[in-house]
Amino acid sequence: MHPSTPNAELRFLGTGWSHGVPMLACDCPVCTGGHPRNRRRRPSVQVLSGGLTTVIDTGPDFKDQALTFGITRLDAVFITHEHADHVMGLDDVRRFTWKRAEPLPIYADAATLERLRIVYPYVTEVRVPGKAVPKIRFTLWDGPIEVAGVRYSRLDVPHAENMSCCGVLLESGGMKTAYLPDCNDLPGAVMDRIRGAEVIILNALRHNPHPAHLTLERSLELLTDLKPKRGYLTHMGCDFDYPALNPQLPPGIEMAYDGLAIPLGGV
Ligand SMILES: [Zn+2]
Ligand SMILES: [Zn+2]
Ligand SMILES: [Zn+2]
Repeated sequence: MHPSTPNAELRFLGTGWSHGVPMLACDCPVCTGGHPRNRRRRPSVQVLSGGLTTVIDTGPDFKDQALTFGITRLDAVFITHEHADHVMGLDDVRRFTWKRAEPLPIYADAATLERLRIVYPYVTEVRVPGKAVPKIRFTLWDGPIEVAGVRYSRLDVPHAENMSCCGVLLESGGMKTAYLPDCNDLPGAVMDRIRGAEVIILNALRHNPHPAHLTLERSLELLTDLKPKRGYLTHMGCDFDYPALNPQLPPGIEMAYDGLAIPLGGV
């Protein structure tokens, strides 16, 4: 662990694409082989710092992830975009609000918040007398947010048609970690902001091109250009067999896997 960030750590809660791996009704060797590092829940990371916990995205596997990886408190949630694989577990954050004095902040951009209010109207809009209202506060994420010494900044990226999406720049102890789970390209402005980051975590969906995502080959090109001290691949489908592919990746680049914990900004 890096000396300047003694408590800050990022843990992968899910490294899979929207279907997860194993994928339903797929008989490929990765889905059926049962290798633990080929078990990829829907994409999410946990950030631990100063005794506090945040998560980036709460997909459909969020409850399983919280149980599996021992999440016992939640101090903030950051949402990258409205797709189901990133938001459909949000209801399960309610349990973490029971003991909180203040509402749990859910940070997202304006368009994403608008969608969340439609999917989860009971958080802010339904006020039935005598019925408990979750202590959740949808909060606009329009500048850096600091939680326990870690700064969270949006990195706006192109992903799907007519939809906003962001990655997250995490700054802790003067070091940068970029987490980019969904994008089909990295604009020049984002490249400039993350160049020199100690760690870059980038999506690599599959081999075949996809309009909304990076292929493995494109992701490796970008990481080779950006030259982080360490690059990690995430949001992966079942094209990729961990024991076969990981040793073949260029030096300094690895496949992430569920449960992998890394020092924030450290290598
Ligand atoms: Zn996704
Ligand atoms: Zn498969
Ligand atoms: Zn998406």
